[in-house]
Amino acid sequence: MAKEELECSFCGRKKPETNLLIAGLDAHICDRCIEQAHGIVLEESKQNDSSDLSAELKLRKPLQIKTFLDEYIIGQDSTKKVMSVAVYNHYKRLLQPPSNDDIDIQKSNIIMVGQTGTGKTLMAKTVARMLNVPLAIVDATVLTEAGYVGEDVESILTRLLQAADYNLEKAEKGIVFIDEIDKIARKSDNPSITRDVSGEGVQQALLKLLEGTVVNVPPKGGRKHPDQKFIEVNTENILFIAGGAFDGIERVITKRLNMQAVGYSASKSDDVIDPDNLLQYIIPKDLKDFGLIPEIIGRLPVLTYMDPLDANTLRAILTEPKNAIIKQYKKLFSMDEIEFSITDGALEFIVNKAIEYKLGARGLRSLCEEILTDAMFELPSSDEKKLNVTKTYAEDKLTKTTLKKLKAVS
Ligand code: ADP
Repeated sequence: MAKEELECSFCGRKKPETNLLIAGLDAHICDRCIEQAHGIVLEESKQNDSSDLSAELKLRKPLQIKTFLDEYIIGQDSTKKVMSVAVYNHYKRLLQPPSNDDIDIQKSNIIMVGQTGTGKTLMAKTVARMLNVPLAIVDATVLTEAGYVGEDVESILTRLLQAADYNLEKAEKGIVFIDEIDKIARKSDNPSITRDVSGEGVQQALLKLLEGTVVNVPPKGGRKHPDQKFIEVNTENILFIAGGAFDGIERVITKRLNMQAVGYSASKSDDVIDPDNLLQYIIPKDLKDFGLIPEIIGRLPVLTYMDPLDANTLRAILTEPKNAIIKQYKKLFSMDEIEFSITDGALEFIVNKAIEYKLGARGLRSLCEEILTDAMFELPSSDEKKLNVTKTYAEDKLTKTTLKKLKAVS
């Protein structure tokens, strides 16, 4: 074939009509066809991206979701179970083709009640990791009604967009974890409070997000960038998980349980109530009595509770999860070829200190850090290639002053 007659094997354009003609084994392709093909490849991979989630969910039924959570979170079986079902249903709803049978599956937004440090954030993080969806963690205490000092409720979505690298499609299927939701409960039952900046007003503003609406979101957040273009975010398929300690709600629960015991059949009052874990009896009405408005409670239909962490659980948290603290130190030391071990006595000591000083699971890491800092400082440049942490060693490193310090920061 003469050189002038070369043409694109895809569109048939002659060489002079193209900017570039690339030769293959026995075919040619022009720049325009390359661009078009590239577009198709991108489009195709985008579609595969969004079907990722459905593949993920097909693979994982609620039982498998719980098994995944088990790898990272100790105990909390009740929440894990409730969470697995809620997450499964939420994403199933999201993946269902549009139907005209009038059955509208409602969102399964979740509310977790439990003392701080019992793993609420960890639960949300693990679910997001499993589903490979973006997660925004926000603190309800910084939220205020628009116009007041603090962050507008919309800032939640700015965070989610950021977590999704500004991929709107991904953000709209993401998870928002709202921590300390109890702090925006109405402060008192007195409705005459004139300016409840961080209370009911914020609850009202949150309502719209929870039920699903389109919000104009400033992508960079805040009011510092007045020129930025707003992005429209639809919150309909965003899963909201709220968490809070609800300090004092036990009183509400006890009061209700006592009243039930009086008013209802004998079999009810025969039920043994576990006074050490009253949260397990929580019902939506208790949240209302605590100060959440009924509409918010209605938009967070899945209510679950976290068990308090006892010594056995704390001990397991130290060593068992996939990325348990002790496993992390082992790895860190092994990078310097140092063999790290810790005795049962030392583990018990750490757990007891965490309980004694009310540091909870969050304190475990700080305690380990205090005990191991000297070793982590000295050993990498010494010839010693073994570190066995015993109870005596731990006691020695953990003075009363450091314990007090830890308590102060927790
Ligand atoms: P919360 O959100 O309830 O205050 P977090 O999820 O932030 O608690 O937990 C604090 C830390 O304690 C986490 O980093 C996690 O490592 C650890 N932790 C708490 N509860 C558990 C648990 N049940 N299993 C494993 N780790 C836990």
